[in-house]
Formats: sequence, C-alpha cells, structure tokens
Amino acid sequence: METTTHFELKGRNIEPGETAQVDYKIARLPTHTPIDLPVYVYRGVKSGPVLLLTAGLHGNEINGIEIVRRLISSGQAVPESGTVIAIPIVNVYGFLQSERYLPDGKDLNRSFPGNKTGSLAQRVANVLMNEIIPNIDYGIDFHTGGASLSNFPQIRCDFEHGPNLDLAGMFAPPFILNSRMIEKSFRKAAHKQGKSIIVYEGGESLRFDEYAIQEGVDGTLRLMQGLGMNPEAPKASRKTEILKSTSWVRARYAGIFHAEIEPGETVRRNQRIGSITDPYGETTYPVKAKEAGHVISLNYMPVLNAGDAITHIGK
Ligand SMILES: [Zn+2]
Repeated sequence: METTTHFELKGRNIEPGETAQVDYKIARLPTHTPIDLPVYVYRGVKSGPVLLLTAGLHGNEINGIEIVRRLISSGQAVPESGTVIAIPIVNVYGFLQSERYLPDGKDLNRSFPGNKTGSLAQRVANVLMNEIIPNIDYGIDFHTGGASLSNFPQIRCDFEHGPNLDLAGMFAPPFILNSRMIEKSFRKAAHKQGKSIIVYEGGESLRFDEYAIQEGVDGTLRLMQGLGMNPEAPKASRKTEILKSTSWVRARYAGIFHAEIEPGETVRRNQRIGSITDPYGETTYPVKAKEAGHVISLNYMPVLNAGDAITHIGK
C-alpha cells in the first residue's frame, strides 16, 4: 500500500508536506481531568509508505519515549516520501505514575484489540486498532527491559511472518531475535489486520540508556531509508547478529549477584559469568553460562531469590 495524496485522521485531511497533531480522547482521570492521546503526523512531499512509531505502551519505559521525542525534535521524523505517525506516549496513565501498567493494573500490551466500553487499557487499545492501525503499513513499537532487566539494543519479531525479518534487517540493530507473537498483544492484533509491527527493546525501565536511545534513533532512520522514505541514514554501529533461539540463566541460590559480564558481550559454554554470595561474606557460588551465545539482557538488581532471571543468552 502506498499513500495517495489523500491522508485523513479523525476526519481531518492532512496534505503532503503538512505536519499535524491530532488528539484522541480516551477517558477522564478520577479528578475529572480529561486525558488525550496525542498523535503526531508528518507527511512527506512525495508519496510512500506510512510508518507508525509508538512508545510508552508500558508507561515506565522511557527510553522509547525519548527515541520518538528526539526524532520529532530533530526534525528527522519528517520523511521525504510517505508519512510518519508518531505516538510518543501510548499509555499516558502509566507514564503519569511511572508505572508499567494502567492504574487498574491492566497490561496494555495484553489488552488488544480492545473495547470501546471496556477497561482503560481496552479503551486505549481500541483507539489504536480502529483509528491508527488501518492507516499504516509498518510500525516500530519501542520498549525496554521490564523490572531491572536491561536489554541490549535489539529488534524482536516473528521470523515466519510477513516482511518482519526484512524490516528488522533494515533497522540493523546489534541483535535481531525471533519472538513469537503473543495473544492480545499490540503486535499480534496489528498482524491480524495485515500490518507488520516490529518491537525494539533497549535499556531498562525508568533509566535513560544513551546507547540504546541512539541505536533506536539511528535504526529508525535506517528503516526509513530502507523503505524509501529518506535518502540517507547513519551506518550501523556493529554487525547485526540474528538470534534464532534464546535461553535464560536463572539464580540457583538466593543471595547477592555480582555480574562479571555486560550486555552485548559473547560468552562461552560453561564460562563463569558472575557469582552469588550471601550478604555476610561467608559463601560464594559461581554462576556459569550453560551455553555459548550473546548476552542480550542482564538483571541489574543484585538481590535475587532462587529462580530469578540473571541473564538472557541468544544464539
Ligand atoms: Zn514494554
């Protein structure tokens, strides 16, 4: 699908070369304060694909919000050909409270396709699915690691569906992970409408990670170039590793974890990657990698219970 000269959002015609902000009403706060979902539209002068940039589906994942903000602020969200739709904060409610979920505890990314009269999460999902998704060709949804997990810059997509792997290749992040689509997720709901959305993960929640932010900005520009929306883009910072499978290293003992690896490194099979100690200086247990691979994620919370995730290894 190529955009014609006609592009309409919420009944408003947006012309080639025009920039517009469109607000969607979602629901009021208990204080009666109205909450809008601000959507920014940047139309190139020439026709081309429509790319959606979404961030903050999880309200505490601020690296993605910063990636989209920088693209807008620098003027780089404006394509030469085609259209960019940017929604820097999808979960406004979660963002206000520095929380992953909505105030009712619902995960927006498990509430699709949504419902006009359902929970707050379902109402936000409903607006995305009915007002935005029908107008796009492709999308990038920006996330970070949950809890205290830090993700090394990576694109997650389902290798078996549509143009996902091609889009990820254009983005050229350090890692591309094969990741099945989960029921009720934004990605799966969009896929059911025939639209490919790839997920970018970088850094951890509530912390800026400059490298992950820059990789997100540069990767978006490379994807725009690959789709013919812009003539130029920054070169990839390192070779992209395509990882078909991943596995977790979990804590065998409760205690304090001392990492001896960093996200982005490679590890050998049986390599010592850290240790778990008690807090009193009496015992130390080594932690080893079960398999060789790339460190795609690391838990920065040192205090662990048995079974907690330490690191995510991809191969
Ligand atoms: Zn997330």
